[in-house]
Amino acid sequence: MGTVETVQGAVAEDELGLVLVHEHVRFRDEAVAAEWPGRYDEQLELDAALVAVRAAKEHGVRTIVDPTAMFGGRDVRFMKRVAEETGVQIVACTGIYSYDYLPHYFENRDVDVMADHFVEDIEVGIQGTDIKAAFLKCAADAAGVTEHVEKIHRAVARASVQTGAPIMAHSMPAVVTGPRQVEIFAEEGVDPAKVQIAHCGDTDDVAYIEGLIERGVYVGLDRYGLEMYLPMDKRNATAAELLRRGYAERLLISQDFCATIDWFPPEAAEVFETAGAIRNWSMTLVFEEVVPALRELGALDDAGFNTIFVENPRRWLTA
Ligand SMILES: [Zn+2]
Repeated sequence: MGTVETVQGAVAEDELGLVLVHEHVRFRDEAVAAEWPGRYDEQLELDAALVAVRAAKEHGVRTIVDPTAMFGGRDVRFMKRVAEETGVQIVACTGIYSYDYLPHYFENRDVDVMADHFVEDIEVGIQGTDIKAAFLKCAADAAGVTEHVEKIHRAVARASVQTGAPIMAHSMPAVVTGPRQVEIFAEEGVDPAKVQIAHCGDTDDVAYIEGLIERGVYVGLDRYGLEMYLPMDKRNATAAELLRRGYAERLLISQDFCATIDWFPPEAAEVFETAGAIRNWSMTLVFEEVVPALRELGALDDAGFNTIFVENPRRWLTA
């Protein structure tokens, strides 16, 4: 039996239980937070994280995979505190969350040096702690797979090949980043069973998602509640069709919820909700609305639920 690193240490894979595979206990720009810490209310952030994670726990969630990487304000001490106070296991990552920008530090060092930084997080520990990263994170968005984005993908891939750690790649279906991302990982020799292409649920183009699945990767239908990218009914129809086509073992369902996020001023949340850009976005929406809807559509039974929320995350994390 394999083990998976969490912020509280390694756990046996069968201890992962019910998993939310893509949620953030806090998301903020680490540079702004470091330069103007007074603009952030740490207690408010902690309280929001505890409320969100405890709500998920009420639905049986035992593990939250939190893909907050560099530039998302990754802070494993904060994550550990949330894990300790809630009793929910949190799985941390290493990697760089950038749509293009790369610090000169990494721009002027080669791919293998970047990969070494990730390997250190996986094998030694993160941010001076003994908390180890369980997976690698990279991203491609509207700008596509730029030179810098490709460099990060290759570094992530090499760290994966070296350590065996799986990969989660943020993608943007609207500009068709997924196939190129998968191709880069393949060129670097990564087993596709270790790869999760996140945010595929932002499109209802079933053929596009199916094309990725056929390459052997997992796909994330992981932004439920973010109506701005695709409304719930279309997300559900897409998920139901993929389930009907027999792809339950390749799907990961989550919300990409951020208990707090500093991208917008505080009043924006209400504006987004009123405008319908987000709706009931939380760490529990999939249990409250999505799973019942998929059951109603005849696409999901108890076995399918177990496959998506227990078996798939375990299999991806231990591939
Ligand atoms: Zn995310």
